[in-house]
Amino acid sequence: MRITHWFRAAAAASVLLSALATGAEAVPTGKLPDDAKPLSYALDLKIDPKADRFSGRVRIKVRLARPADHLWLHAREIDVVKVVVTEAKGAAHDAKLTVRDPSGVAEVAFGATLAAQDIELAFDYSAPFNAKLQGIYKVKVGDDAYVTTQMEAISARYAFPSFDEPRFKTPFDITLTVPSGEVALANTLQTAAKESDDREWKTLTFAQTRPLPTYLVALAVGPWDVVDGPTIPANSVRKNPVPLRGIGPHGTGPQLKWILDATPATVKYYEDYTQQPYPFDKLDLVGAPDFSAGAMENAGFIVYRDALLRIDAKSPASSYRSSFNVNAHEIAHQWFGDLVTVPWWDDIWLNEAYATWAQGKATVALKPEYLGDLSRLEGTLYAMNSDSKLSARKIRQPIHDQGDIENAFDGITYQKGAAVLRMFEEWIGEDVYREAMRDYLAKHKFGSGNSDDLIATIARVSGKGETLAKAMRSFLDQPGLPLVHAELKCNAGKGAEKTGKLELSQSRYLPFGVLSHDNPQWQVPVCARFGNGDKSSRQCFLLDQPEQEFALAGGCAQWTMPNADAAGYYRFTLGKAEFAALKGHAAALAPAEQVVYADAISAAFDQGRIGPDVVLEAMPALASSQIPQIATALVGSFEWIREHLATDATRPALDAWATKLYAPRLQELGLHKRPDDSDATTRLRVGVVDLLALTVRDKALRAQLNGEARAALGLDGAGKVDLAKLDPDIRGTALKVAVQDSGEAAYKAVQQELKTNTQTKQRYELLAALAATHDAKLAEDVRNYGLTPAVAVGEIPYLYSSHVGEEENRAGFWAWLKPHFDALRMRLPDSYQSSAIGYAGAGRCSKESGEEMREWFAPRIKQVIGGERKLAQSLEGVGTCGALRAHVGDKALATWVEAHPAR
Ligand SMILES: [Zn+2]
Repeated sequence: MRITHWFRAAAAASVLLSALATGAEAVPTGKLPDDAKPLSYALDLKIDPKADRFSGRVRIKVRLARPADHLWLHAREIDVVKVVVTEAKGAAHDAKLTVRDPSGVAEVAFGATLAAQDIELAFDYSAPFNAKLQGIYKVKVGDDAYVTTQMEAISARYAFPSFDEPRFKTPFDITLTVPSGEVALANTLQTAAKESDDREWKTLTFAQTRPLPTYLVALAVGPWDVVDGPTIPANSVRKNPVPLRGIGPHGTGPQLKWILDATPATVKYYEDYTQQPYPFDKLDLVGAPDFSAGAMENAGFIVYRDALLRIDAKSPASSYRSSFNVNAHEIAHQWFGDLVTVPWWDDIWLNEAYATWAQGKATVALKPEYLGDLSRLEGTLYAMNSDSKLSARKIRQPIHDQGDIENAFDGITYQKGAAVLRMFEEWIGEDVYREAMRDYLAKHKFGSGNSDDLIATIARVSGKGETLAKAMRSFLDQPGLPLVHAELKCNAGKGAEKTGKLELSQSRYLPFGVLSHDNPQWQVPVCARFGNGDKSSRQCFLLDQPEQEFALAGGCAQWTMPNADAAGYYRFTLGKAEFAALKGHAAALAPAEQVVYADAISAAFDQGRIGPDVVLEAMPALASSQIPQIATALVGSFEWIREHLATDATRPALDAWATKLYAPRLQELGLHKRPDDSDATTRLRVGVVDLLALTVRDKALRAQLNGEARAALGLDGAGKVDLAKLDPDIRGTALKVAVQDSGEAAYKAVQQELKTNTQTKQRYELLAALAATHDAKLAEDVRNYGLTPAVAVGEIPYLYSSHVGEEENRAGFWAWLKPHFDALRMRLPDSYQSSAIGYAGAGRCSKESGEEMREWFAPRIKQVIGGERKLAQSLEGVGTCGALRAHVGDKALATWVEAHPAR
């Protein structure tokens, strides 16, 4: 509540100040006015990756809806040399661009009042390559320099003057003039090339794009490897084959083969589903040597962190899986986001939730061995944790400024959005839902669609009308998630018949000590499983009242799982008898249901309704599962108990408990990958090794890992560093253990290796290992190291998140952060500027430590893009952690430990 008011006040104040500054008209820091609309762009850029700046001319055709002497658009950190406005009848005169707001809102004054008409604006300008991976930016790898782009959310304004809002979709004509020896690429296929007279330069012309918003424009220049992938063949939906290419830093071409080979099937999957042909003239998968996010769905030119595309025999199993998943996500965007685009950032969930939901479907269909349904569920549970905060965003949160835009790319938009879609898909049926999606895409293709358009389509096609619309809105337009309480009843009916009933009630799920000021209600599609013995059936209900009773079609039931197939976006509680009955059948539930059963236990613990003993006693039944997500389902709660409730006296018993449960699992799995291991087996091994080596700190296991890493780092007289000696799946863990247990020698060797290693995945592991040191002097060294150019911008999060993941480093980090906060945040892209707040909050679990943070950040937070919400969420997490710790106390754990001594 407090947050919402604060935001409104801040937004109102900034409008007022802007109005004062310009005299009359307020600077449009949110949406641009409607009276000028771009119709097309011609972008001519001259780019030499070896230089520090680029130059260009952009011509924009603009429709003026009414007479005007100026218009508003966006330009940021751009030096405009000349602006010419050409009227419809050909008269041309100079105009002037003035930046009015630091977020890049600019006014173009025509010097005279022009009638309503179509005009052309031509800007000659130059700009620096951005240092923070935004707009058009440059990255050096050894002596090579690569230029690429990242425009989303609002960074196209760093690259060229533009109407930098998603609702403006227009064709782009792109021409690139680059040094003759460089490779240059863009969204579409190249149509012409011309060399300069002195042969120093070449000018490449690219086919006109389909209508695109500025945030999907992309290009690349540099000594790239370009490799052909398999052509995506024509099919019943699409007449022409689509050329597929992989693009990566020089020398990385061969590593792109795996993902290129997997891509045609993914494209076909979405074409079958949507019945819309892949919308663009080719598909390039581009691995950028440094990148701010994971990947970006630019139309026909998807850019990734190159670590996500570079796959070979030295890659861990997790890299194959992420490569496939992220590629499936970005390709889904070619329909969900690129073909149909959201008009404004408050609907960004339509892009991200849809791509996340579709990626899950594609993975389940095409790579069953990745257990996509369980990965999807992990995402849902992650979103539920964020959504349990009072300061959580809504899926459809109003957007007032840049901070709101950056905040919008979070777990609520992606994973909660995807989970809500899945719940409604399950409720109306997969076939009906697919029909609605086809209808929606066909109607809005090459244009825009918003939430209301989509809801109306699903409501109409499903025949559920306003009931469905209301239900969907109850999840989109309010924050938080429902807690559904379920009880079974069995009443004597007429004659010998007994009637089974399910009593449901709902409230907002909140952790212990947090009270909701209002009492939000949802229209929740609840699908529950009902069992008699090991036989079960499924029935769905719409819970649209605070309390409701439903008749069971199959008569009385002995037990119920209130979230059948884990398809619902809600948590549940059960009556005592119902919980005991479910526990008795837990092992017979489907894997996803076993995971939500475990989540119900964690959620009850977080609400202070059950003690740590119940969590610990529930672990053995899960730990023996072959499925990693089930086997480790309660490890998060275990780690919380170990970190925040245990004392020096009780911790050894907890460690012994985890060792008793999981050491035999490692024994049976072996420490190293075996030729026939499935992805799930590998994943389970990694989870167990991390728990035993890094959390419980098992001495024998650490000695083994330390020895293997020492050999790979050349520490025992072996001389040369050879990371290939390490098993890729546990390489990162082994390196961490070596830095912690072998001290300065390992630290130095890792830092030396980072000077020359260009395998980006390995670099992330090396940086995380370096930062995990427990030595106070080295810890200070690594914190400063993160501010030097030796650590690339996109690598920074790997370093600091690993650093504060270690309890030993948190006090030192906080002391260091205070004088270095601005240096750290200013190295990061706008979208990550607020992440240092999260690092500062790591491990804090008391009111006092929250206050300490609040006080220090209070006078600084307004300058941090997206900082207010990040701070509010961080502090709320600290507060609820402290409240739960105080509520549970250490008595219950001490009693449990007496019954389970370490020896
Ligand atoms: Zn996405």
